[in-house]
This record gives sequence, structure tokens and C-alpha cells, in this order.
Amino acid sequence: MIHVGVNGYGTIGKRVADAVAAQPDMRLIGVAKTRPNFEAEAAVRKGYPLYAAIPERADQFRDAGIDLAGEVEDMVMTADVVVDTTPSGVGAANRDLYERYDTPAILQGGEDADAADVSFNARANFDGTAAADADVARVVSCNTTGLSRLLAPLVEEYGVEKARVTLVRRGGDPGQTSRGPINDILPDPVTVPSHHGPDVNTIIPDVDIDTLGVKVPATLMHLHSVNVTLEAEPTADEVRDLLDAESRLFLVPEKTGIDGTGKLKEFAMDTGRPRGDLWENCIWEESISTEGSDLYLFQSIHQESDVIPENIDAIRALLDREDRETSMATTDETLGVGL
Ligand code: NAD
Repeated sequence: MIHVGVNGYGTIGKRVADAVAAQPDMRLIGVAKTRPNFEAEAAVRKGYPLYAAIPERADQFRDAGIDLAGEVEDMVMTADVVVDTTPSGVGAANRDLYERYDTPAILQGGEDADAADVSFNARANFDGTAAADADVARVVSCNTTGLSRLLAPLVEEYGVEKARVTLVRRGGDPGQTSRGPINDILPDPVTVPSHHGPDVNTIIPDVDIDTLGVKVPATLMHLHSVNVTLEAEPTADEVRDLLDAESRLFLVPEKTGIDGTGKLKEFAMDTGRPRGDLWENCIWEESISTEGSDLYLFQSIHQESDVIPENIDAIRALLDREDRETSMATTDETLGVGL
């Protein structure tokens, strides 16, 4: 049994905690929080032991009537692995804490690649992570996860000469009331290429990829406009079959009438997905087109949840507990991945 602590209980942390609790080979030993807010209340109601992320604030929890199991160092000391889901930059600073207790850790995509020993995506480099003898792995960002899942089978099956992707990015998550834009369309970053392409290279080193970013007033999902020049000339049907065989790629069928991210999220909620989460890349099936060696498609990425199965697999890879197929299959089955 792998004892897992989750440090930082926000958008990603609360989802990772639920996913850990669902695994047959893992036990959630607790979550660390900075404040006794609504998420702390929800963690208590779920029965998750709560640790004070900032010991000086422990009184705030007591004043709010919330019992603490201890301080974050107690959790780190007890855990076999900590999943750090704190805001960008905090995870890198926390590395000292994990090293002090010799506890392996998983960081998130908001950290620079060099904050970790290895960057992780289950489909593309589970084996590389398991072999790396690393103490700290970084699950790459939501966008990089989505791109890596898509490119890995294309690289393996056809070879990729060049990928060009425009990422239409949501302004903020639904709970991030201070983010924007609320009435604009921003080149973001305005410089070309964006950092996402180099981030994909931390997972698939040899793929030639340029990315451009645009930020829009939306909260539900990102949308990628993808053009990949392949080293072969498959038909659109052949590419569709290749992608359809991947458990974490969902081909949105034309007949469902899903025309955008709003209906995708409705579909997720209607089918009982927790929090309306979409762990899979959502690729519009009829957008998959080929022109000679050029492949085109649109895919949407649910930024709040596509990295959740990856965090679970990263735990097993970092601790070298399972092979890729077994880990991904267990994660997919327990969470319900695969629409
Ligand atoms: P979030 O702000 O929703 O949650 C972070 C939580 O950590 C908050 O509850 C915050 O109070 C807490 N925290 C702050 N300082 C802390 C500390 N010192 N110790 C413990 N907890 C602390 O952020 P998020 O969206 O969950 O992002 C977390 C990480 O995941 C970031 O690296 C981010 O880039 C990455 N990520 C986010 C998304 C997304 O769309 N939300 C997607 C993929 C990856």
C-alpha cells in the first residue's frame, strides 16, 4: 500500500486526493491546507485528515472548529510520496521539505522543468520516469499533457516532421474570479513560439513543435487547433482509428451534437462525472482531416482534470511499483476514464 499525502488542496489537489482515495494500492494519509476555507470544510466532510500547511495558521483552523491531524511536516514524514499541488513556484520551494524527510514528491506543471528530476506523462514517458531513479517528478501542465498524449501515438505510428499548434486558452478556472480577460482576446504570450512547445520536448525530446497561445474570456476548457506534418500520408480514417485506440483520447462523435466546450461539460455532468471532469483529450472526430502528409484537428482539454490520472500514474512510476499498461489500466478503471 502506497501512503500518499497531498500538499495544497485547491483545484488540482482536491481532485488528486479523491483519485488517490479510489486506488486499490494507495491510501490517502491526508491533505495539507493553508486556510480553513470551503475546501477545508469539504475535506473534513470527506473524512480526509487535514494538516496545517502553514503551522503559524493552525489557530485559524481551531477557531473555525476544524480539527487538525498535525502540521505539514508530520504528513511529509509519514508519507511514502507527497503530491505537491501548491501554486506555481511554491512546489519548487517545497522541494527542501521533501528532501529533509527523504520523501519522494510529484510536482505540477506550473513549476519549471528543472525543479524536478524528470517530467512525466503516462502515455509518453512512464518507463523513462521509472528508469530515472528520480526523487522528484513533475506532471507537465494540462496543455502539455494534452499535446503529449496526442503526439506520442503519431510519432510512434507515422513519425512527425513538424507540429504547429495554436492553443486557445481559457482565461481562468471557474473559481478564479480575479482572472481574465472578461471582454478581450489576447495573444498570450505575444511572443512566438510560446513555452508549450519546449515543454512538450521535456516529454518527447525529438519532436519538432511550435506553439502559439491566445487567451479568451472562457473558463470551461482550452481548445487546440492542431496541424501536424507527418512523415507518412495516412488517410483521415486511419488516423481516426489510431487515436480511437488510445484510452485517454475521446473522439467526440458527430452524432452527439456536441459543438463546443459548453456541451462537452454538460455531457460530462449529465453522465455523472465528478465535478463534470473530462480526464480525456476531447478530439472532434469530424475535424480529423488529412491533406497529403498534413493532419489537422481540433481538441479540447479540461484544464482542471486531465492531469489527474497522470498524477496517479506518476506515483507508481516514481516509486517503480507498476508497468505502464497496468498502472494506466488501473487508474482508468478506478476513475472511469474512457468515454
Ligand atoms: P489552486 O490555487 O487552485 O490551488 C493551490 C492550493 O494550494 C490553494 O488551496 C492554496 O491555498 C494552497 N497553497 C498555497 N500555498 C501553499 C503552501 N505553501 N503549502 C500548501 N498549500 C499551499 O491552484 P491549482 O490550479 O490547483 O494549481 C496547482 C498547480 O497545478 C500549479 O502548479 C498549476 O500550474 C498546476 N496546474 C493547474 C491547472 C489548472 O488549470 N488549474 C492545470 C494543470 C496544472
